Amino acid sequence: QLRLKGISKWFGSFQALKGIGMTVSAGELVSLLGPSGCGKSTLFRIIAGLERAGEGEIWLDDCNFGCISPQKRKVGMVFQNYALFPNLTALGNISFGLEVQGMEREKARNEARCWLEKVGLASLEKRYPHELSGGQQQRVALARALAPKPEILLLDEPLSALDASVRTILRNEIRQIQQELGITTIYVTHDQAEALAMSDRIAVMKNGEIVEMATPQNLYRNPANLFTAEFIGTAS
Ligand code: ATP
Ligand code: MG
Repeated sequence: QLRLKGISKWFGSFQALKGIGMTVSAGELVSLLGPSGCGKSTLFRIIAGLERAGEGEIWLDDCNFGCISPQKRKVGMVFQNYALFPNLTALGNISFGLEVQGMEREKARNEARCWLEKVGLASLEKRYPHELSGGQQQRVALARALAPKPEILLLDEPLSALDASVRTILRNEIRQIQQELGITTIYVTHDQAEALAMSDRIAVMKNGEIVEMATPQNLYRNPANLFTAEFIGTAS
């Protein structure tokens, strides 16, 4: 269980996050839905330890994340613009992190092969990122994030650079793998259809605040406030 308590963040005098509180249950996928600039990526950077919160606490079960260095936090991330290592093959991109963690080379490569298979790219292990399609690159990025067995998976608009048909296929694959592994996941998206299709719950964010958090069914049928209604598209 991941618990965020009163997370606030200032950039100078601008407050990007205003007391974010939310709990993500073990194995749950929560989507963060909200317009550009509302603070979604900032929240991710704080959870991953890439940025410090001005205020607030992050707990994973009974462990206080604030006391753990970024390198030791078991957080896997996938970004919008596939940040693969350009000079490593698909296999190398996945095995690299395992070797850095101290896994023996052959073992790391075998693990990486299993992950490539899981994301349907077994035959492309020798390809470099520039020889892969956008969707394939995101599959490698997902495998790379999952290979070190993180406790939390953060996906920051992983599909937004892909065309619609690939997006639909990949969102189903991501959801399937996420459920199979039972990994606690936050999924950032602009795309309400995506959020409605793949989430256990959706958190709607606006101007650095979470304005609503509910299951897709409840949010869609009974949006509790106007902003959500507009965002979901059921406002009259
Ligand atoms: P998008 O959907 O466009 O990715 P987002 O919800 O991820 O948007 P953030 O990147 O978290 O938004 O940014 C939240 C706000 O904080 C924005 O107004 C942004 O300009 C501001 N911001 C983010 N990083 C910094 C920074 N390093 N310095 C100053 N302001 C920043
Ligand atoms: Mg962002």
